[in-house]
Amino acid sequence: MAFEGLTERLQNALSGLRRKGKVTDADLRETMREIRLALLEADVNFTVVKDFVRNVREKAAGAKVLEGLNPAQQIVSIVNDELTAMMGESEVPLNVSDKIPTVIMMVGLQGAGKTTTAGKLALKLKSEQNARPLMIAADVYRPAAIDQLKTLGEQIDVPVFEMGTDADPRDIVRQGLAKAAELKSDYVFIDAAGRLQIDETLMQELADVKEIAQPDEILLVVDAMTGQNAVETAEGFNERLDVTGVVLTKLDGDTRGGAALSIRAVTGKPIKFVGQGEKTTDLDIFYPDRMASRILG
Ligand code: GDP
Repeated sequence: MAFEGLTERLQNALSGLRRKGKVTDADLRETMREIRLALLEADVNFTVVKDFVRNVREKAAGAKVLEGLNPAQQIVSIVNDELTAMMGESEVPLNVSDKIPTVIMMVGLQGAGKTTTAGKLALKLKSEQNARPLMIAADVYRPAAIDQLKTLGEQIDVPVFEMGTDADPRDIVRQGLAKAAELKSDYVFIDAAGRLQIDETLMQELADVKEIAQPDEILLVVDAMTGQNAVETAEGFNERLDVTGVVLTKLDGDTRGGAALSIRAVTGKPIKFVGQGEKTTDLDIFYPDRMASRILG
């Protein structure tokens, strides 16, 4: 289960407070110290942790929590609110264009889950809104990426536009968009190139594709299991492409939670969806408040 370690440590820190009838300032300081360590151990970004601790302390002081009734319960509630705020308050829906098609560009490092997520999201739109998506195979570098997208397309019954691996991704995207107009597709997914690491050639290509496709949504797909590296990757892509949303994948295997807790605060971009498994239906809308409750256990 995700966040196991963090949940246990936060519960321990807060149950220490709950056991006390009266909570002193020293008790609160000790609890905040434990929470700080728990978050750092969960690989949450250092600055994010610092801000979090400061905010909780200020809110507790401002509300004169220690003088009131049931201070422990109030502190738990402040911690819950701040965790939620750290992840973005409320869910942010997919950007949708007022004329078809809505163009969604998927970016991210190789192996993050771009292709899989494009398929998952296309299926979600198809089954929930009767949408008619088209997926464009523009990742010409990863061996077998195009075949993978084609197989996925067959599995979820969504057409895939491809021109093989020898074509230039810019041409693929231009012609793919023409195909979408012909098919009257309402959503277009561009499965853009990924690399093992961010490099200038990749970024230039993605910037060109962005220019050509004028996407309504640029979804950055990051692997939650890579923790702070995921956050750094997100910053790199965002600086260059100004992404509109993040998809955190492999949350099912993420035992620490650092990426989920830091990405919004560090990049300012909302996590819109989370991938929680390998099946085509394992994609969920990201609700910061539900995630905070889940983390607090
Ligand atoms: P891409 O290179 O970014 O297109 O990555 P892929 O879509 O090929 O995904 C890489 C691997 O991660 C595949 O084996 C996927 O099945 C797996 N994967 C993607 N999303 C998730 C997820 O949410 N949970 C799990 N457990 N595996 C995932």
